[in-house]
Amino acid sequence: MGTKARELLGKNVDKIVKLLNKAFADEWLAYYQYWIGAKVVEGPMKNAAIAELMEHAADELRHAEMLSERIIQLGGTPPISPKEWLEQNNCGYDAPEDPYVLKILDQNIKGEQCAIDVYNALMRETKESDPVTYNIALEILTDELEHEEDLQALKSDFNHSK
Ligand code: FE
Ligand code: FE
Ligand code: MG
Repeated sequence: MGTKARELLGKNVDKIVKLLNKAFADEWLAYYQYWIGAKVVEGPMKNAAIAELMEHAADELRHAEMLSERIIQLGGTPPISPKEWLEQNNCGYDAPEDPYVLKILDQNIKGEQCAIDVYNALMRETKESDPVTYNIALEILTDELEHEEDLQALKSDFNHSK
């Protein structure tokens, strides 16, 4: 725990840690949704989809890493059990029950759009009080915006190849 890091945030610290923990749960769920989606996906141009899904999975895991460092710095504890991911998150988990490539892309686009709202809200919350968390949220948001666009571009490629 960073004593001074906590002190700087004053009474806001517990609220920020809670928001970071929820975002952390989102990232692990997003990671797994991408990872398992890449395994089960079926349909046209599936290799292009697999490559993109696996790249995004790696990004989501990196986001979880960034959030966990900040949570610990602020004296919090990231979820120590996967069951907590489902209890405290913002965006939920969409199991790829239908492995058709366009279905999987749509589920992940929905997830990215939720993540974009989450990091926008976190930036608004920390803008004045917590520049370090703000910066982390900005960096992650930039990736999520790119993810959304990548998936939409892939979807449009599929639609044009039909
Ligand atoms: Fe992410
Ligand atoms: Fe993402
Ligand atoms: Mg990408």
